[in-house]
Amino acid sequence: MKVLLSQDDLPRVWFNISPYLPEPLPPPLDPVTREPVSPVKLLDIFPDPIVEQEVSQEEWIPIPEEVLQVYALWRPSPLVRAVNLERALDTPAQIYYKYEGVSPPGSHKPNTAVAQAYYNKISGVKRLTTETGAGQWGSSLAFATQFFGLECEVYMVRASYNQKPYRRILMELWGAKVYPSPSDNTKAGRTFLERDPEHPGSLGIAISEAIERALEDKSTKYSLGSVLNHVLLHQTIIGLEAKRQMEILGIYPDYIVGCVGGGSNFAGLAFPFLKDKITGDKPDTEFWAVEPTACPTLTKGEYRYDYGDTVGLTPLIKMYTLGADFVPPPIHAGGLRYHGDAPLLCAFYHHRYIKACAYDQKEVFSAGVLFARTEGIVPAPESAHAVKKAIDLALECKEKKEKKIILFNLSGHGYFDLSAYDSYLKGVLA
Ligand SMILES: *Cc1c(COP(=O)(O)O)cnc(C)c1O
Repeated sequence: MKVLLSQDDLPRVWFNISPYLPEPLPPPLDPVTREPVSPVKLLDIFPDPIVEQEVSQEEWIPIPEEVLQVYALWRPSPLVRAVNLERALDTPAQIYYKYEGVSPPGSHKPNTAVAQAYYNKISGVKRLTTETGAGQWGSSLAFATQFFGLECEVYMVRASYNQKPYRRILMELWGAKVYPSPSDNTKAGRTFLERDPEHPGSLGIAISEAIERALEDKSTKYSLGSVLNHVLLHQTIIGLEAKRQMEILGIYPDYIVGCVGGGSNFAGLAFPFLKDKITGDKPDTEFWAVEPTACPTLTKGEYRYDYGDTVGLTPLIKMYTLGADFVPPPIHAGGLRYHGDAPLLCAFYHHRYIKACAYDQKEVFSAGVLFARTEGIVPAPESAHAVKKAIDLALECKEKKEKKIILFNLSGHGYFDLSAYDSYLKGVLA
């Protein structure tokens, strides 16, 4: 069963949760002086309108018409009741998923890529640089920059560059230049290559490379696919649509579930609902952030100031972190291999509005296969983490005979990740 909104129902505003924080976010600190960084400093790498959104306290922020026009290529995205999965689990719970895999790049990431490309364009920027893990973010930015005539340069974590040639091809098809990171284009990259010519790379290293390039040239800016406040803001279109879709059904979720790499798809779905928990309208909703045991940022990390990248080019930000030099093992959910998490998400986790859990790769793929065999869609390995938690919650409901409503974010499809599923099916997944 599907709830489809018409294009007239496309939200016209994003939701900014900042005014609902229990206390103001701890400010980013200058890595040298340890003094709060003024937003002006961020203008070295981001354009004006993005910096404005990064620090905005306005609850509702209008979505520009030009952005809505590109969104309309695939939005509003469907909300689907996973009836076959419910049957297979024999659960009294209802399981719904918001499906972000309908976007042309196949994930939620273009929701922010399109907005960022637009704001850079109107600020006179000529080229965007970025990093990408599994390739979803790079392909989303490559896709988005096309609409606004910007160049796009992507540093792709080498482990994924080698494992996932199709994502690289997709980026090149959409006109981007793609380099395996660490690369020899930058000082940061060369440092790691000297230590190990086969260095698998990490998101942290790739971020250092992309920022270094943006700092070198005035008409080049940097674009980040997760973690920052403005990225989470753009992603709230997911939750705003989902809320409207559930209203049409006359229901409200008891559980809201999403996988967490940097936190953007989770926050995008969760924040519009989290507001109702904070205001006391819906105090009992449970929010579950799901991560891999290989990169357990929320469940095992420390809440402290740390760098966003590996080399230390970014300001220090207060977040749950495994340490900026943490290099996670090359798991297939490449989009979840980040040492930190979004400061907004971390603040709400710290204040216990959100819960977190971690799963290992095999149980995640097993959940992904069950989902594919019941609901038809092959989930991205990242999204399969959310599928796994939704299944576990539904089984808990079965045990307790509870008819709860579970909503999870199916953040993307896994059709570029079939070799990972192949390894799972052959029983050779580590
Ligand atoms: C990038 C990605 C993620 C992880 O990033 P978040 O910012 O945590 O959402 C999750 N799922 C998919 C499909 C992705 O492409």
